[in-house]
Amino acid sequence: MTIPADASTDAVARPARMVLPLRPELADEVPYGAPQLDVPVRLNVNENPYPPSDAVVATIAREVAAAARGLNRYPDRDFAALRADLADYLAVESGVRVAPEQVWAANGSNEVMLHLLQAFGGPGRTALSFAPTYSMYPEYARDTHTRWITGRRAEDFTLDVDHVVETIEEVRPSVILLASPNNPTGTALPPEVVEAVLDAAAAIPAVVVVDEAYAEFRRSGTPSALGLLADHPHLAVTRTMSKAFAAAGLRLGYLAASTELVDALRVVRLPYHLSAVTQAAARGALAHRTELLAQVDALRAERDALVVWLRAQRHAGRPLQVADTDANFVLFGTFADRHATWQALLDRGILIRETGPDGWLRVSVGTPAETAAFKDALIDVMTTQES
Ligand SMILES: *Cc1c(COP(=O)(O)O)cnc(C)c1O
Repeated sequence: MTIPADASTDAVARPARMVLPLRPELADEVPYGAPQLDVPVRLNVNENPYPPSDAVVATIAREVAAAARGLNRYPDRDFAALRADLADYLAVESGVRVAPEQVWAANGSNEVMLHLLQAFGGPGRTALSFAPTYSMYPEYARDTHTRWITGRRAEDFTLDVDHVVETIEEVRPSVILLASPNNPTGTALPPEVVEAVLDAAAAIPAVVVVDEAYAEFRRSGTPSALGLLADHPHLAVTRTMSKAFAAAGLRLGYLAASTELVDALRVVRLPYHLSAVTQAAARGALAHRTELLAQVDALRAERDALVVWLRAQRHAGRPLQVADTDANFVLFGTFADRHATWQALLDRGILIRETGPDGWLRVSVGTPAETAAFKDALIDVMTTQES
């Protein structure tokens, strides 16, 4: 008997039909994320268009250098100094003072949400939201084996209190996720709606998460849900440094809630989840809050002007529809073939987001030069599509 020449290679080759034991519900899933394309004008993921100033960069570099000297040690697991700074920031920004123990943070508010669902969702439990809303929510639910249910928003993207309360009573969720201002519509929730949700949730009981990723951009007169924390131990208000704070690359999200709720999140977090470098960089950025908040005012003015301009445009024989917005983006439409409009803008070097209900597109507020480029391109595209 002869041994085939390649027998030894055969022996170590992979079995031809090796199938990884992937969770079946992940079989057809693809990783989440908007296209990251290198084009001149990127208005697709609601970032702050202004890079940190030299002063901010210098402070962050100094703080990170100091942290680097202690990198042989694990970081402060409870990030006490950062929590105190975040509590101070919230007091200045919204007038609501919470204790540092009422603040929680993680690598982006995405991880904060995951902690919330790890603690309060899970097998046999349900998370409820109202669509259209943030497309990441169902992923947190999936990853924590939490059932995911959505009610609906009204035509103008607001929430109808009766529908919301009925749905809560029917679905009996353990977590209710409400983005305010909502992504992708820009709609902020009036406090009486949040209070009605809190009352219905208390009877279940459910935790109510108000996702205020865009809160700093709200128009004057729109209150933050932070004002409701004192009376509602089942409320969590999440925030992020990714949008208004011009630090999407930092990955720092946080929330304010009752100490009891925060203590539950401390149980599910990975030990040392916030690196010493992240903690130091975040504190460095927060030290410049006055400068950064001034920039937010400029972006709000730019946003309001963009809404007025869009509403003055006509497409397919009628004015463009533009959703009221308290965020740093605008949802507008409708287009018979929104993908064609999106692609035509991209061909002109402008990247926006194809999201929201059919026919709508979302554009982030950029610098005045970026907004001007977007307007020129949109006029060009709409004229071309109509001729
Ligand atoms: C951008 C965004 C966030 C922020 O996510 P990070 O992980 O903090 O960057 C949270 N919620 C909504 C609705 C968002 O649009």
